[in-house]
Amino acid sequence: MTSILITGARKVDGIAGDLFIRDGVFTDPAQAIGTLERIDADGLMVLPGLVDLHTHLRQPGREDAETIATGTLAAARGGFTCVHAMANTDPVTDTAEAAEWIAQVGIEEGHAQVVPVGAVSKGLKGEELAELGMMARSLAKVRVFSDDGKCVADSMLMRRALSYVSSFDGVIAQHSQDPRLAGPTACCHESELSGRLGLPGWPAQAESVIVARDVQLAELANSRLHVCHVSTAESVDVIRWAKARGIQVTAEATPHHLLLDTNLVAGYDTTFKVNPPLRTTEHLEAIRDALADGTIDAVATDHAPHAPQDKDHPFDVALPGMLGLEYALGVVIEVMVNTGRMDWPTLTKRMSHTPAQIGQVHGQGRPITIGEPANLVLIDPAARTTIDKNTSKSRSRNNPYHGLDLPDPVVATIWAGRVTYRR
Ligand SMILES: [Zn+2]
Repeated sequence: MTSILITGARKVDGIAGDLFIRDGVFTDPAQAIGTLERIDADGLMVLPGLVDLHTHLRQPGREDAETIATGTLAAARGGFTCVHAMANTDPVTDTAEAAEWIAQVGIEEGHAQVVPVGAVSKGLKGEELAELGMMARSLAKVRVFSDDGKCVADSMLMRRALSYVSSFDGVIAQHSQDPRLAGPTACCHESELSGRLGLPGWPAQAESVIVARDVQLAELANSRLHVCHVSTAESVDVIRWAKARGIQVTAEATPHHLLLDTNLVAGYDTTFKVNPPLRTTEHLEAIRDALADGTIDAVATDHAPHAPQDKDHPFDVALPGMLGLEYALGVVIEVMVNTGRMDWPTLTKRMSHTPAQIGQVHGQGRPITIGEPANLVLIDPAARTTIDKNTSKSRSRNNPYHGLDLPDPVVATIWAGRVTYRR
């Protein structure tokens, strides 16, 4: 079996030492004898492999935009060793067979662990519950369920879904968007700017009214709710209130909602069209504070690759979504660590330990110690680059960070003891 010796890497606690990996597990470096691969990590930091709760891999159905293979290559490039594959594929992941197929392709072709997310409703139609129990009991062991891309708007359906998944410690991950306040055409944060640009507005409250409803339904069902891509200060306030009350709610923030603001859409560049939309700096500040203090538990990328023919349209018609896997860590370092808002142990929680716990993925988000699975990322926290969308491992090019100078920390990623990316 393969073995790897990594010398001199510094952990987040500041202590440097050697790491020896054999048969996919961290092993005592004293046993590192004979022929093996060596990585000199002097001056580098080692973090546990990152875990993404929210990835669109587009396979099956839109392999022209991304595949399980290319999406997980982008994940490895970004330091991720595990991604949750959202259910809004074609066909939708709403059966045990569909979930098992994605998990199996992940095993055969993936460069990171692929954990299927199951749909909440059949066909994402928001009418009838999908086969939640069958998906949970399948070989794919689905624990996260989401109609992401669409909101589970029907309160009774949401209550039933929450009740159902509590029996196997599942979680409902909600895309919070009131479909009446922010309908299918809504595409720009509702403000003076959306009025001036003539773009249909997406008010902050269209998110927070759903979050407010859902935390109360989670309390009623005594079940777990996860709020996807929190983008508003109002939602943060509701989540803070719910947590203080003891409600089982977790939440995620995306890199783009931490760094990019609504003014970027002024040029009608559809790269910046995303759902929920980019917000004002006041909202960004609230998201940053919430991620620092733990009101928002995790960073999740909402990596949403799109083929050019789906983005080359007028702003209100183009599909929403942007790439996220490759530069998520760089953005979090820039916004949170380099500004002194967050230390390294907290970053590790938000991007590895906590998302693994929320998704109930055993073997990911574990400490870097002897006996644990060898999932890690080696980083140079000071490395920077001018981002070029054409160097992406993703099949798509809708990268909102193109041309920006940002940290580019990832030197190598190791998943289950094998090198999945090396600079
Ligand atoms: Zn969504």
